Amino acid sequence: MKRALNFNAGPAALPESALAKAEKEMMNYQGSGMAVMELSHRSKEFEEINERTKNLLRNLLTIPDEYEILFLQGGASLQFSMVPMNLLEEGSIASYVLTGTWSEKALKEAQKVGNAVIAASSKNANYRFIPSSSEIDIPAESSYLHITTNNTIYGTQWHSIPENLPVSLVADMSSDILSRPLNLSAYGLIYAGAQKNLGPSGVTVVIIHKDLLNRSRPGLPSMLDYRVHADSQSLYNTPPTLSIYFLMLVLQWAEELGGVKQLEQLNKQKAALLYDAVDSSGGFYTGHAEEKSRSLMNVTFTLNNEDLTSAFLHEAEESGFIGLAGHRSVGGCRASIYNAVPLENVEKLSDFMNVFRSKN
Ligand SMILES: *Cc1c(COP(=O)(O)O)cnc(C)c1O
Repeated sequence: MKRALNFNAGPAALPESALAKAEKEMMNYQGSGMAVMELSHRSKEFEEINERTKNLLRNLLTIPDEYEILFLQGGASLQFSMVPMNLLEEGSIASYVLTGTWSEKALKEAQKVGNAVIAASSKNANYRFIPSSSEIDIPAESSYLHITTNNTIYGTQWHSIPENLPVSLVADMSSDILSRPLNLSAYGLIYAGAQKNLGPSGVTVVIIHKDLLNRSRPGLPSMLDYRVHADSQSLYNTPPTLSIYFLMLVLQWAEELGGVKQLEQLNKQKAALLYDAVDSSGGFYTGHAEEKSRSLMNVTFTLNNEDLTSAFLHEAEESGFIGLAGHRSVGGCRASIYNAVPLENVEKLSDFMNVFRSKN
């Protein structure tokens, strides 16, 4: 069977072995005579899936016991609201580092909840780089500092995070969670929509330090309250059972592959192939991100002019490459090379880039 050369930004490629396992178990999950999405979310089978998925994530990311793992709905976008609703205390400030469109959106939602300010920004440079720790200005009354660890649209990524902060660090890791080892203890809260690096859309992972569970504003609707979800093991209401099952399959794949260290090695190898194609092109391709801030997940670049960029995208499509057009706010090209994108596919793309350059 022919699989696409999928470089979509999200929803994105999933590991073939996870898809194959789901296909095999589709009609009859573990002898239940039911598909996973036909099981009760209160059944023994599903509770096991829920627990196993959490444990896999805990092991893969070495998440200490002081952190709760929640499986929520509403995407990363709902977290833009839930974070301030739960963590921004009355009379204090939420600080945001702006590194792209998603952090702008996160700030905008926080400003609807309370007082939220910009602690640093690279907007004036069209988000080509990640501000350095020394540029981040956190007001004394801050409840937390929010960062976006990987900027899916601009192709930049934090390669070291601010340390010894006087406030909790909150991170949107939607597009790079599980791509490298994490020092969890540096964070108060991490969230990620699953559809880039973890699984299908429909489930959002939240990892929160237990100390932060008691800050929420009085009168918060139950569904928007982390405490409610934590108290019920993410089974307060019907969870997205199929998405959580797929998340489990993807995490099993990651574990079998050797875990996040192995994934990081592979991701570095994949990214180097594409950045080399850009850097060795003598200016034929230009990267959007500054070198020190380059993302290992989303490689953004343009060609010399619009016509050449269109010709590149057109020919790439004819050759079977999917999803290479850049986001409308940046233009140009973007190759999303998340964990599940095979090395061979990236090799094919880098070959294609080199051949296209020689021809033009
Ligand atoms: C895709 C993405 C989002 C939006 O996620 P939804 O699940 O669609 O709400 C937010 N932040 C980042 C960094 C993303 O890549």
